[in-house]
Amino acid sequence: MTYQLICGAEIHVELKTKSKMFCGCKNDPFHAPGPNIYTCPVCLGLPGGLPVPNKQAIEDTILLGLAIHSEIPSLAHFDRKHYFYPDLPKGYQISQKDEPFCIGGYIDTTEGRVRINHIHLEEDAAKMHHDLVDGKKVSLIDFNRSSVPLVEIVTEPDIHSAEQAKEFLKKVRDIVRAIGVSDCDMEKGSMRLEANISLTKDGSLPPYKVEVKNINSFRYFANSLTSEFVRQSEILDKGETPVQETRGYRSATNSTASQRVKEDAADYRYFPDPDIPPIVISKEWLEEIRSRLPELPSSKIDGLIKLGIVESAAKIIVNDQAMMEYIEQVKTLNPKFVQSAAKDIVNKKIDHTKLSPADYIKSLESKNADKVTDENVLKPIIEKILSDNPTVVADFKAGKQNALGFFVGAVMRASSGKADAGIVTSILQKIL
Ligand SMILES: [Zn+2]
Repeated sequence: MTYQLICGAEIHVELKTKSKMFCGCKNDPFHAPGPNIYTCPVCLGLPGGLPVPNKQAIEDTILLGLAIHSEIPSLAHFDRKHYFYPDLPKGYQISQKDEPFCIGGYIDTTEGRVRINHIHLEEDAAKMHHDLVDGKKVSLIDFNRSSVPLVEIVTEPDIHSAEQAKEFLKKVRDIVRAIGVSDCDMEKGSMRLEANISLTKDGSLPPYKVEVKNINSFRYFANSLTSEFVRQSEILDKGETPVQETRGYRSATNSTASQRVKEDAADYRYFPDPDIPPIVISKEWLEEIRSRLPELPSSKIDGLIKLGIVESAAKIIVNDQAMMEYIEQVKTLNPKFVQSAAKDIVNKKIDHTKLSPADYIKSLESKNADKVTDENVLKPIIEKILSDNPTVVADFKAGKQNALGFFVGAVMRASSGKADAGIVTSILQKIL
């Protein structure tokens, strides 16, 4: 019997604001010269410490919501989430439950849309170190990370494969980096992942879910899906239901191990934090934040593909500022060389940090003296390839931009590499 994987993700991202979430302490846990330096009564959780929300962190959260098509309600508030652990001396974490800053939203993947349930803002806990001091096992606590602003992106259970998970997580990371609110450094822990995994036979939501924590890479996230798929199918095959619990991912064995039976939300005794008034997001404030939204990676990729650059190269280029600028300069100087510039940079045939775009174009122009640029020669070749590949034409019309790259490649082969790729692209765009 085959099962379908159902997975929702919870993604924690530490914001790189100057100060912490509810006090003026420096937010820089990774570069602190020593432990417990950036602390005060508020982030140490001492009695009487009063939290004051960080405006920048709120704006960063809203900006992220706008980037992934969330709705931004006009009112939000912070809640206290109670639990007992040494890294949280107040006995509660300031988080958001009923009225978060961002509701809904989505990110599209090649395997379908992943809907976002909400994004909320909270404070990080202190960091525990389990160490050996004078031969004794001790647990040390570093409060430099305590109350660092942390956003949590919670998705709907719309992830159905390990590959889709990786694509989705990369997109989230690229968006967060593009809007400049976090470095998303998985190794340092400024981006942390959890997966809620269950299996279904008929597409309906099963009566249980297994939460996998401690995932610190996209590959491990994907691995946890594969290993849970195997483990849960074996239980279901026996006619049993997997236990609803929290499991930890173990990279050494590529498996998960039970940590604890999962609490219900009620166990946290959520209630609105009486120290922090509700936050009103006025239309003016929202529009001011929206005006800071930069062009996002997906739209930049689409723009490059429209110039005839293949999708795989476009994805590499948008993640490299210097490459992107180079392509833009080539485009301004002479758009017909954009495709070859993209190819040459990605394949490292040229060093874009040394060769200027103008010199690059000059070298191509002299090389291309015998290029076929005559539309009357190229058009019949293009038309034949289009009529030979009706399904790819249909794909293009259905929105698959990379079909264009396929046709450019086919024309190049048909002309033994002599066709001028820029002119071919513009003819293709006209016909299609
Ligand atoms: Zn502090």
